[in-house]
Amino acid sequence: MAVLWLDEVDADDIDTVGGKAASLGELIGAGLPVPPGFVVTAGTYRAFIEEAGIDDELFEVVDVDPEDSAALRAGAEAASELIMGTDFPESVREEVLESYRSMGEDGTEAFVAVRSSATAEDLPDASFAGQQDTYLNVREADLLRRVKECWASLFTQRAIYYRQRKGFPHDEVDIAVVVQRMVDADTSGVMFTSHPSTGEPRLIIEAAWGLGEAVVSGTVSPDNYVYDRSRSAVDDVTVADKKVMMIKDPETGETVEVDVDDDRRTERVLSDEEIEALVALGERVEDHYGVPQDVEWAMYEGDIYMLQSRPITTIQESSGGVAAGAAGTDGSGRGTNASDAAGAAGNGDANAADTADATADVLVHGLGASPGIVSGAVRIVTKLDHLDQVQEGDILVTEMTMPDMVPAMKRAAGIVTDEGGMTSHAAIVSRELGVPAVVGTGTGTRDLQNGQPITIDGDKGTIRAGADEDAQPAEEFEPVEAARPQTPVKPMTATEVKVNVSIPEAAERAAATGADGVGLLRIEHMVLTLGKTPEQYIRDHGARAYQDELVEGVRGVADEFYPRPVRVRTIDAPTDEFRELEGGDDEPVEHNPMLGWRGIRRSLDKPDAFQQELAAFARLFDMGYDNIELMFPLVNDAADVEGAKRHMNEAGIDPEKHTWGVMIETPASALQIEELAAAGIDFASFGTNDLTQYTLAVDRNNEHVADRFDELHPAVLTLIGDTIATCRELGVDTSICGQAGSKPEMAEFLVEEGVSSISANIDAVRDVQHEVKRVEQRLLLDSVR
Ligand code: PEP
Ligand code: MG
Repeated sequence: MAVLWLDEVDADDIDTVGGKAASLGELIGAGLPVPPGFVVTAGTYRAFIEEAGIDDELFEVVDVDPEDSAALRAGAEAASELIMGTDFPESVREEVLESYRSMGEDGTEAFVAVRSSATAEDLPDASFAGQQDTYLNVREADLLRRVKECWASLFTQRAIYYRQRKGFPHDEVDIAVVVQRMVDADTSGVMFTSHPSTGEPRLIIEAAWGLGEAVVSGTVSPDNYVYDRSRSAVDDVTVADKKVMMIKDPETGETVEVDVDDDRRTERVLSDEEIEALVALGERVEDHYGVPQDVEWAMYEGDIYMLQSRPITTIQESSGGVAAGAAGTDGSGRGTNASDAAGAAGNGDANAADTADATADVLVHGLGASPGIVSGAVRIVTKLDHLDQVQEGDILVTEMTMPDMVPAMKRAAGIVTDEGGMTSHAAIVSRELGVPAVVGTGTGTRDLQNGQPITIDGDKGTIRAGADEDAQPAEEFEPVEAARPQTPVKPMTATEVKVNVSIPEAAERAAATGADGVGLLRIEHMVLTLGKTPEQYIRDHGARAYQDELVEGVRGVADEFYPRPVRVRTIDAPTDEFRELEGGDDEPVEHNPMLGWRGIRRSLDKPDAFQQELAAFARLFDMGYDNIELMFPLVNDAADVEGAKRHMNEAGIDPEKHTWGVMIETPASALQIEELAAAGIDFASFGTNDLTQYTLAVDRNNEHVADRFDELHPAVLTLIGDTIATCRELGVDTSICGQAGSKPEMAEFLVEEGVSSISANIDAVRDVQHEVKRVEQRLLLDSVR
């Protein structure tokens, strides 16, 4: 028997018919309305490759190095050619076609969905699920080809990649194919039989006109209905403006997008009676499985069809709801998402069937801190000694990142933190690494679960359940290439556009941007990753060894940019960060370390380590690095600058012969700019991360006030604008090296005010260059008009 009818199988038949078919069979067995269909069994696929004698070759061609993208591509192509180039066995062909023909009504050809149903979908890694194809509106002429294409989709690059990386043998996964009657849906959507995050008996339905693909692809915002099961009443109705819908083109059978008639756009999709019918169905499904379900449904001429049901895996035990766990009917192990509406009833596009998408529930919100969308399994890190658990491609979830976490951050596909704002360690480092990040979620470490597949959007600051097929695994990034501007011609600007660097490893990416130099090289990372406070390190290894570490770290960046200038800042880490290190027990416990003993204050009060820092710079100057400039953090007034100058002289660095300057990070330093200039600074660089927090009294790392952290606040801009004006009069260069330098609005303001340079994040350099050029040209035009 090459095929089995869906009503002949149930949840125990995963090995024979794959997860999806087993789940559909189970629903039919429970008396639930599922469109009819049959399944070309996994054994049929296996017999096909074995009888044709292509099995050994097939598994050999896909046994490639997963990190070698060319080999991966070649493997996938070879596998596809082997399968597509082999004829369907005659007996199987007849059985499939006969089964298909029996689904036609009144002599017409049935439109069917051809859906992959792999036997390994229940592996804990979501990436196994949803990688295989689904084809909609298929008729006899294409049926056998589509079945073979489903088989071949077991060997897409992505599927090969994941199996190779997980060490999962290719020959242990088989694939069945479901052939199921399409439902020409009048309306369709998804239903959560209980609240997806709290587990309360509040049933949620999303609904739109036509086929579900519009909902799945995010093309349309669906209506939202909330039904209180304890009161048996509709609680809340939100009617969306549904501009478009998907329908089957009556002539070609293809799924097409059409405009919704004006009068139906804001009309309710579901009546109260229809909601109640769906609720009754939802309750039956939940009763059948004993856990809340995420159901996809469609309605045609008043009849409801269920296209898929799977347990909701996002309900939190702590919230008193039901922890559904990963026990799946289709065993996909995925989190809650609304994406599989692309299923049998033809409510989706060919490949969107099993992946997270824009309609999936947002599990957690935060600040989009480093751009990019990426999927991976959650890896919660609570202590430093758990770091080796973070595997390539995982999403690192932690309260706040620390410098010691950088190796794990590099391995991670994405980063999520509970705490912190746009200028936190996590935000800065992930941007430099080119790893998407969402920070300041507040509850990420509690709301997400280890191993749970999620998709993070580092632009929007959202974390959704499930894997997104379009999300690029981190391993496929080519970090340096990704940083290289796509438009090869660098805009020529009078205002210099530089780049910030916080980890020496990012130097190559930073230089690839074509920036005019480094506006801020932070050395904290080089020091904190030593694992010891500077004092302890010097005690244990000697002053020279400490200098060596700094010389090596700075040199790497200075070489990468030579002869472009690299502005290196002396150390500015708060006591709470030093306290984490060996020797940190002596650090004072401060009520608010941001307002405490950091930057130049510490360096002047505790000059031993500061002296060694300066000695390292003196060595670099001796080595010929005349592109290095020195910058002092968190100065308030001329006394701070005089102190720094004294130590420079002591270290053998002549302030007259080298370029050096200060950060403007406190309102005091902005207001004291004339005195600072008189003390001899060559430049003043706005550290807007601190300047904003001190001007607005908004702790930059406190997610509770993150929405009040506004670098473009008029008070901040006034301080900056006035400082630039004074510096221009006094011949002092001005720059910005805070995060705000990456914002086009800030760039526009600064250029108008006459700033000398702007230093931006790696990912923002090219945009800032264009913005600067635009504003400069406008100013020039204005001046001649
Ligand atoms: C700043 O304060 O804007 C700055 C660049 O310094 P850091 O973020 O290292 O405090
Ligand atoms: Mg600062």
